[in-house]
Amino acid sequence: MLPEASRDDFMEDPTTWETIDTDDIDPYFADRLVEAGVDRIRTCIQCGTCSAVCPSGRRTAFRTREIIRKAVLGLKEEVVSSPDLWLCTTCFACLERCPRQIKVTEAIVILRNIAVEEGFMLPQHRKTSQKLLTTGHAVPIDSVNRRMRKALGLQELPPTTHSNEKALEDVKKIMERTGFSTLIEGEAKEGA
Ligand code: SF4
Repeated sequence: MLPEASRDDFMEDPTTWETIDTDDIDPYFADRLVEAGVDRIRTCIQCGTCSAVCPSGRRTAFRTREIIRKAVLGLKEEVVSSPDLWLCTTCFACLERCPRQIKVTEAIVILRNIAVEEGFMLPQHRKTSQKLLTTGHAVPIDSVNRRMRKALGLQELPPTTHSNEKALEDVKKIMERTGFSTLIEGEAKEGA
């Protein structure tokens, strides 16, 4: 319950009410999640269990319940442009405890996919993905690791895309044909 003073403020001052402009609502947004497998998302009762058990939410601004609510309301731009969307560690604690058996973690992953399709991606993820595009590794081998491998009597480069040009070409082809390259090289949007 709100403290007395702030509850009165809220009741008397309508400017403290957050209003949602209908132009901000995508009425089909929740349907995309339902079609992608989060079929029970509209049964959310906003109990907050997902936020309460979220280990990331304990340390960050990530609020699972809020994201689910906004997604159900169709506030697509707000959800996909939020950097908070990337704070989930996909530990599945919310999914295990949701009293409505909503696939909460999957919803987050689907929302991330939509965000990337729309050009919203954290710079760190874009950089890591660019490494994958150019080397076939999200974390390419560095000079320290090369030296350690040598000292251990191993080949300086592992038998991966690092030393196999054909394999790297194949990986690049896969990334191109699946549309991954286009997503990564596309223009970043504000907020991403
Ligand atoms: Fe909604 Fe489930 Fe989160 Fe409760 S635990 S707020 S029902 S998604």
